[in-house]
Amino acid sequence: MKVILKGGRILNPATDLDIVGSVCIEDGQITDVGPDVDETGAGAEYDCRGLWITPGLVDLNCHLREPGNEARETIQSATLAAAAGGYTTICAMPNTQPPLDSPALIDFLLDRAASPDTGGVFVQPIGALTKGLNGREPASYASLKRAGVAAVSDEGSPTQNAALLQRAMEHCLQLDLPILIHADELSLSAGGSINEGGMSALLGLKGIPRSAEEVAIMRACVLALNTGCRIHILRVSTWGSVETIRQFKYLGAAVSCDVAPHHFCLTEEDMPEFDAHWKTTPPLRTMVDLELVQQGLSDGTIDCIASDHSPYADHEVEVPFEEAPFGFAGLESTLAVTLTHLTHRGILSPLETIRRLSTTPAEILRLEAGNLKPGTSPVAQVTVINPNLEWTFDVHRTFSKGKNTPFQGHRLMGKAVLTLVGTENYRDPGFEPERYRRS
Ligand SMILES: [Zn+2]
Repeated sequence: MKVILKGGRILNPATDLDIVGSVCIEDGQITDVGPDVDETGAGAEYDCRGLWITPGLVDLNCHLREPGNEARETIQSATLAAAAGGYTTICAMPNTQPPLDSPALIDFLLDRAASPDTGGVFVQPIGALTKGLNGREPASYASLKRAGVAAVSDEGSPTQNAALLQRAMEHCLQLDLPILIHADELSLSAGGSINEGGMSALLGLKGIPRSAEEVAIMRACVLALNTGCRIHILRVSTWGSVETIRQFKYLGAAVSCDVAPHHFCLTEEDMPEFDAHWKTTPPLRTMVDLELVQQGLSDGTIDCIASDHSPYADHEVEVPFEEAPFGFAGLESTLAVTLTHLTHRGILSPLETIRRLSTTPAEILRLEAGNLKPGTSPVAQVTVINPNLEWTFDVHRTFSKGKNTPFQGHRLMGKAVLTLVGTENYRDPGFEPERYRRS
């Protein structure tokens, strides 16, 4: 079948394309993009006037929780949430139970993700950096790569041993496999629940110092510079982290990084006292950090935006603050929070916004995604966004099982209204049926 997305603002960062035009999808593949496409024989046509047509969003840091923690999330609920949030590819972090450290577990994940009851988006597995994520013995990277991982990571179990990290980088360099780094020096952060500073002193909570993140980033960058391995630092939160990465990029290290939405629009001062829905690691920082993180995004030091989607079951979050787990569910709010706080405020242009949410994460992991140009992906991955739709984020209407978010009740501007992976996977109820004509 032939589908036409008609008359929208086409944003394709991979080719620096920002024009008004149409996208033609035939038999699940993009066949034409431009001001005039051949509409003869179209089976379906979407009126995209006033909307953006972009490559499907790519999230390189997601926790799907399956296998092992299906009360928090499943591959089914996470992929439905992803489609609703505008994502067509999400990366599954390895800290499941058991961790994704073997080809058999990668096969399981890919099989489950391909089953017809899911959201239909691509799930890209990320392998464990160490066996069982035990932090002691490197996993078998060659067999993980053959099974289909795009990277390996110590997410959830940050590596403390520099020699082990160096050995892993030497192996991964040979395989051209990037390492996604969870930067946390536990000897500095252990026992902390919020940012260390005035707020932690005021509330009498043990703080997590910025140095816990910065020391770990410095160590990973030094090792990357010396080994030549490609590394990607997950969710930076401090101005010192941004500055360190800027310096190591200048020195020639193959380092990239991302930021999670809460670190570019919330600070510790926004947090209602002892509300565990606001507890995350690294913690919400200060206004200086927020401003320099925004600057790092704007000047390209921060390469991309990732949700760090970390769903938890309600009973796990409804406990005293110090006992609560760290992290937020984010698949269904990340795009809208980015549009509201960065794009509409002029910190990122529309084209740069989509670059950070789609094109660059795909490039970092060398995925066939993040590009509308015909022939670059075996299956069309396209998101249609209404940039001016005003709405209120409500966790009771999300597909994710995780309702742990600081954005509940947040007023947002902009939303994915249609997500396509070959065929339609999600359509917002507000994307009115009369806009959808079947001929
Ligand atoms: Zn994560």
